[in-house]
Amino acid sequence: MIRNVLWMRRGLMARLMLCAVAMLNTGLSAADTAPGRDPKQPIDQAYTAKIAKYTTEPYFTSPLVNYLPASKTVPTPEAVLGDIAGAPGILPYSAQVYQYMRMLAKASPRVKVYSIGRTEEGREMIAVAVSSESNMAHLDANRANLAKLADPRTIHLDDAEADKIVGASVPVYYITGTIHSTETGAPTALMELAYRLAVDDSPYIREIRDHVVTLITPIVEVDGRDRMVDLYRWHLAHPQENYPPLIYWGHYVAHDNNRDAMAMTLKLSRNVLNTFVGWDAQVLHDLHESVPYLYDNTAGDGPFNAWVDPILTNEWEILGWRNVQDMTKFGMPGVFTHGQFDTWSPGYLMFFAAMHNGISRLYETFGNGGADTEERTLQPDEYSRTWWRQNPPLAKALWSQRDNNNYEETGLLTSLYFFSDNRMMFLKNFYLKAKRSVMKPENEGPAAYVLPANDPRPKLQGELLRVMQLQHCEISRATSAFFVTVPVLKKSVAHTHGSSQAAKESAAGAKPEAQSATKTMNFPAGSYIIRMDQPYSRIADALLDYQYWSPDDPQKTPYDDTGWTFGELFNVKVVRVTDTKILDVPMEPVTTIAPPSGVSGAGTVFAINDNADTALATLRYRLKDVQMEAAEEPFEADGHKFNRGSFLVHGVSGGDLRHAVSGLGLEAYGLSAAPTVKTHPVRAGRVAILHTWLSTQTEGWWRQALDSMHIPYAYISTQTVAKDADLNAKYDVILFPPVGRFVTPDLIINGLSTDWGNPLPWKNTPETPNMGKIDSTDDTRPELGWDGVAHLQDFVKHGGVLVTVMDTANLAVALGLTHGVTVSRTPHERIIGSVVRADIVDPKSPIAYGYGDRLSIYCFNGPAFNVSSIVSRGGFRRLGSGEDGRPTGRGTLTDPDFVVGRKNEPVPEEPHVKPWQAEPVTNEELRNGIGVIPPAFRPRVIFRYAGVRHLLVSGLVQGGEAVAQHAAVIDVPMESGHVVLFSNNPIYRGETRGSYSLVLNTILNFDSLNAGRKLDTQ
Ligand SMILES: [Zn+2]
Repeated sequence: MIRNVLWMRRGLMARLMLCAVAMLNTGLSAADTAPGRDPKQPIDQAYTAKIAKYTTEPYFTSPLVNYLPASKTVPTPEAVLGDIAGAPGILPYSAQVYQYMRMLAKASPRVKVYSIGRTEEGREMIAVAVSSESNMAHLDANRANLAKLADPRTIHLDDAEADKIVGASVPVYYITGTIHSTETGAPTALMELAYRLAVDDSPYIREIRDHVVTLITPIVEVDGRDRMVDLYRWHLAHPQENYPPLIYWGHYVAHDNNRDAMAMTLKLSRNVLNTFVGWDAQVLHDLHESVPYLYDNTAGDGPFNAWVDPILTNEWEILGWRNVQDMTKFGMPGVFTHGQFDTWSPGYLMFFAAMHNGISRLYETFGNGGADTEERTLQPDEYSRTWWRQNPPLAKALWSQRDNNNYEETGLLTSLYFFSDNRMMFLKNFYLKAKRSVMKPENEGPAAYVLPANDPRPKLQGELLRVMQLQHCEISRATSAFFVTVPVLKKSVAHTHGSSQAAKESAAGAKPEAQSATKTMNFPAGSYIIRMDQPYSRIADALLDYQYWSPDDPQKTPYDDTGWTFGELFNVKVVRVTDTKILDVPMEPVTTIAPPSGVSGAGTVFAINDNADTALATLRYRLKDVQMEAAEEPFEADGHKFNRGSFLVHGVSGGDLRHAVSGLGLEAYGLSAAPTVKTHPVRAGRVAILHTWLSTQTEGWWRQALDSMHIPYAYISTQTVAKDADLNAKYDVILFPPVGRFVTPDLIINGLSTDWGNPLPWKNTPETPNMGKIDSTDDTRPELGWDGVAHLQDFVKHGGVLVTVMDTANLAVALGLTHGVTVSRTPHERIIGSVVRADIVDPKSPIAYGYGDRLSIYCFNGPAFNVSSIVSRGGFRRLGSGEDGRPTGRGTLTDPDFVVGRKNEPVPEEPHVKPWQAEPVTNEELRNGIGVIPPAFRPRVIFRYAGVRHLLVSGLVQGGEAVAQHAAVIDVPMESGHVVLFSNNPIYRGETRGSYSLVLNTILNFDSLNAGRKLDTQ
């Protein structure tokens, strides 16, 4: 999980007097069962000898895992692996792992295997349950009990009844492995763990088996696992050669698969959450491998997510520190908790538990990215002793996959034992957290969130509600119109948005005297209500609320995004309601979200309004041979109002159109006469997504988005572009999504040198059957090269549209693929994955079609663009005394300057130029104006960042002056084509769906981007 260890910081202070807490709740008495084998049970001698052989130091193991109990009937992992778990050179495919788990299930009544769904590429995901025969025989009854604790409404919030159920229930502890494909140790550790839990008769393990259901998903990212095993085997087969990094993990994204717990775009997220909720599990413990030797992130650093129950944050501390304590007693170095990264974002897989009344846990153990045994040398910040790491890892050590497995299994077994020993407390807490979630409206608020029925973007609204459903939230719909009382907010960021009405309300709320005022707010029948008196209210509250990360927070290196407010990012109106009367509004539960669609009117020209809903693009490609036009101005027809960009559809029957718009939330009106408004064609352009061989992490979200909207595209690499001198023959639009924050322009152009070393293939071969299917190459080292740059430039000059984003926009500017744009350095900018406000500059640009005056966008230290009408002069500001100043002289501030000894003529007024604008071209500059860009070729700013006072919507904004008011979205005409530059990332993690249409509009209007353009007069 750790992206970059240097990003992390040391903890600042101790948090809790833990000893007292632990002693109250746990038996720290002599009654504690000693860990270690039962001398009466024979051990598997050969297996045990290999454990010792592959463990590189005696202190890299524990009495829990330094032996393997023997069984006459149950096979050990050796049966499938041909060697023991963690053996050097052994990395099993998912099929082998599953084969072993099913062998276990066949041989032992204590084990069952469940299929929990499929991946994007169709591979199976499983969960393995291990517990005593008796527990396994009563799983359904136990689940029924746990379901009552999980939903306290079923027992009328009756604590006494809950206590009875707690006493009769067995908790479920869910362990997930290998979400990150380069972190390879968990599957073998979990195979062996399952064996131990099923077979070992030591009192310590029996305590776990008798009182806990251990649920194991050995591989979360199955597609990536099989690719990683391919890669490792290629490495073993070519021991003298370098091997490529794992460029593709999952089908779409790499480590961001562990950032999907909010938007739920990936199958693995859905499958794991369904399993967690379906079992009513108490813990979700996710295994990672990038920190020496075992970092228990359970008690992480601040800030903590502000929506979780404090009961949970206390559980984190209890579990985390107890884990360190147990392993400290075993003498295992490098086991620690607390340190390093914050617990703010709910995007991590483990956070499913935190947001669904369970306990989220995460381990980082130490992996070698494969099963080679290697000498590992650490950095000082990794081996230093700190207050939270009293026994740090060694500066240098020989480290094996077996060592890693020893740490993983030991940590898990001590956790399971402690959890089992304190199961009553944890089960009661599970119930209490659920109960407190149900009581949210009275206890803390809000009472509900409302998504009004009249939202102009029903498709996006439906998608937001669908995310809530995937999160297992209950959704209701008002059966009649209703009103609630809402406070009039004092700040510019009102908790209602997405319309000009909201903007007015915000402005009204800016009056200080209005702070304590309330007003009524009306909602139409059919409005969606997400009640907060439900067990999973917390996740809805966390996703729909606003975030504020103080620039003064002691945590200076946020580990991930600081803001995510879903209503803002989806461009969907969401109202936070604290008035508990809303809970009495007549409403009915909603199971299927079906945005209204349809066709009305008798005419044959159909008009469809444009509200920047993503559905229009889907429709365009669904009816790709049908003639469609976009209106360049708003118009009215047959009593309906249509925005700029609205579609006029010709030559299709009402029936066909009705079929095509179904499910899209689009209303088509058959007009009695074609409107006279100016239009241009909207074509189903040929799209390519351009990727590098350096990283496919961030562009993967673009593929996911286009796939989800059924927009076809070619998937090409920088190497394709380097070889293809006629890109226009194949594509109209090339999307070049961000490559990654750690990738330099040098790498994107030059790649890795081919002057030395061996080729690094990424290919589908019998040797690597899981690689090379998404894209392939004989050698991943070359990138764009200067040929590729020239080909992209030709593509644009001949009418192509190149879309660039963040780092690729910087690259386009630096390479001279644009003119009139420069990028400022912004060393003090700290906008760390925040939601910020953009204001519209040119609503007539097709890129802005359907949007209102403002839009919330996702920004990560977005580049600050400057535009100019003079070549290479972006950011230029004429010298002077500033907009309010005047020279030192006679008179007052507002008087003109005064020259003694001559008649004072009034000086011409200098134009006031805003940061997103270019300085007007002067007559002086036009004298032999060889550097003056002709008006038709000047950069056209579509959106700009808001002023610094209004920039922050959600998250952290510090040093916002660097980008405030600067251009955020620019269309640069280059000969016949265009380069479009984004400072924000419009397509990101399935969360920014409200800004998808900026890209979709660019695609749909690729050959008419100059529409509505007003040219400078000189
Ligand atoms: Zn990881």
